[in-house]
Amino acid sequence: GAVLALEGVRKSYNVGTPTETEVLHGIDLQLSRSDFCALIGPSGSGKSTLLNLIGQLDSPTSGEITLLGVPTSGLHDDERTLLRRRALGFVFQFHHLVPAFTALENVLMPLMIGHGKPRPDDRERAQTLLDDVGLGEHAHKKPAELSGGQQQRVAIARALIAHPPLLVADEPTGNLDTQTADGVFALFRRFHETLGCAVLIVTHDPRLSDRSDRRITLVDGRIAEDTAGQPSPAPG
Ligand code: ADP
Ligand code: ADP
Repeated sequence: GAVLALEGVRKSYNVGTPTETEVLHGIDLQLSRSDFCALIGPSGSGKSTLLNLIGQLDSPTSGEITLLGVPTSGLHDDERTLLRRRALGFVFQFHHLVPAFTALENVLMPLMIGHGKPRPDDRERAQTLLDDVGLGEHAHKKPAELSGGQQQRVAIARALIAHPPLLVADEPTGNLDTQTADGVFALFRRFHETLGCAVLIVTHDPRLSDRSDRRITLVDGRIAEDTAGQPSPAPG
């Protein structure tokens, strides 16, 4: 089934005031675990608004968002938070690592928020994820001792620690050089294949979107194009 489904999702800001504006005009979208998608579109087209809705940081004005089969419109805040933690891993342009924590502790953080003290198998999984992103030897280092690309790799490991079926990334390579960006993108690819999680990457980088299986283009709050179901271009 779908990991994520949006049905007729509309979003207005400043509802009930003279400046009320609708910025998403009825979004229909379904993502399954086999999807590796880029979300693209000009500035102001509604990408951040859509991500905030998917991330349960904000609610649609109308329409329904279903995560892991659970319609979210009727949920209380605490139920919403639990569902988000279970369903979603997030990677941001600026990684938001905690400077005082080691790489390993940063990766463990989502679990500590969830259930306090990390269990031994949590530590093992965190170390394995750091190994997977090529940072096994750097687990004890603080973010400041790592390069920008290495920090972003830690953030990816952290996003995956709770086994989310959907990995969402907001401009994850926005401040990385081309070669480092390619390495980070390759990690998303690899985790999509090995962990079987759906991936949704918001990006302005055509090199990333061109190499995604599916491109969803937002223009003026509407999906102008969605390549779902179309054959992917030949690799190369
Ligand atoms: P993108 O991420 O594609 O640049 P956004 O989702 O940030 O687009 O913005 C979509 C539209 O919604 C823009 O016109 C923006 O000005 C407006 N907008 C975004 N956030 C708010 C807000 N908190 N209050 C009012 N308008 C907003
Ligand atoms: P918790 O309620 O589990 O403590 P937070 O509310 O701190 O979690 O959110 C967890 C992290 O995920 C925060 O850094 C929050 O800003 C981020 N987050 C979740 N969804 C989004 C989103 N759509 N866009 C940006 N950040 C998000």
